[in-house]
Amino acid sequence: MKPDRTFLENMPKIEMHLHLDGAINPEDIWCIAQEYGVTLPHIPEQSLDALKTYFQFDDSRDIRTSRDFDHLLRTFDIVISLMQTPEGLQDVAETHVRDLAAQNFVYAETRFAPQYHLRKGLTLEGAIENTLIGLQRGFEKTGTLVKLIACIGRENVTIGPEVARAALKYQDKGVVAIDLACNEIDYPPELHVDAFRLTFGSNLRRCVHAGEVAKTPEKLRQNIITSLIDLRADELGHAILLPDMPEAIEHVVQLRTRIASCPLSNLASMVIDDVRDLRLQELLDRNVLVSLHSDDPAMDHTSLADVFVETCKAYNFDINHVQTLSRNAIFGAFCSAKEREWIFEEFRRRGFDVSS
Ligand SMILES: [Zn+2]
Repeated sequence: MKPDRTFLENMPKIEMHLHLDGAINPEDIWCIAQEYGVTLPHIPEQSLDALKTYFQFDDSRDIRTSRDFDHLLRTFDIVISLMQTPEGLQDVAETHVRDLAAQNFVYAETRFAPQYHLRKGLTLEGAIENTLIGLQRGFEKTGTLVKLIACIGRENVTIGPEVARAALKYQDKGVVAIDLACNEIDYPPELHVDAFRLTFGSNLRRCVHAGEVAKTPEKLRQNIITSLIDLRADELGHAILLPDMPEAIEHVVQLRTRIASCPLSNLASMVIDDVRDLRLQELLDRNVLVSLHSDDPAMDHTSLADVFVETCKAYNFDINHVQTLSRNAIFGAFCSAKEREWIFEEFRRRGFDVSS
């Protein structure tokens, strides 16, 4: 059976490669800004329409032409400006969970870089703690469980170990991993080995945005290897050239490293021309723990349902593929065994059994 859009929109969902600051829609940003009297940067005329225009909300827009990188950074800056106080962080995080719940999410891992939230005096720990409070509040109101991943904005090499130490304080309290995010071209993974080493032997897992964008294909492949070996990555975000790397595939299959594929995000940032470039069928055939993710849905004007729709179309996937991709995501989740059981049970309860 081929899944249609209605099915993919309504089915229970899980995803783990999702940026909190890339997932808040203009309407929600506007509401929170109004509540706290925040003047949004980069919007000369403070209005919801101006904000939507800045986000380039336009149904006719082709995702492949949507991204001017500097504009994108300024759009992130608008959201981040709301997330500088305890209340702002709590509200944005709670709003995020409500939005996920409305899309029938059972479980998610969301990520943000605490280092960008220190403008008004918060500490790294304070940024993490208040975000966790918001996620917990969202869980109590909706039943959607959302864990947190603390990203290191890789352009600041010295803050990496500080972010890792702050995240370690919240292991087993909602933070499940650290991540290396942002500019891969100029700040390759080897610069952050020290930060990642701090988490070896802890309960925190390790994600790396690797193999998304680099100056040469050779460097792209090298970033994947460095992330797997030296940073001991438990998740590779993107890893676009992985299908061409038999030894790396053997490694990720053996260690059950999760591969977070973000097809529509890759199209939007123009690192691929076609969803088929990711060769997902080959990865599935080789037992790679690959799953689908939306990355920055509000920035790309997408959703996880859109990601499934376009991927199913590109690969002619049927309902069994959707089950496999959902099951891979559940097995890849950095939650406890008990929580994993609960996720499988929730999927069943909501009418989509993906357990076998
Ligand atoms: Zn990402």
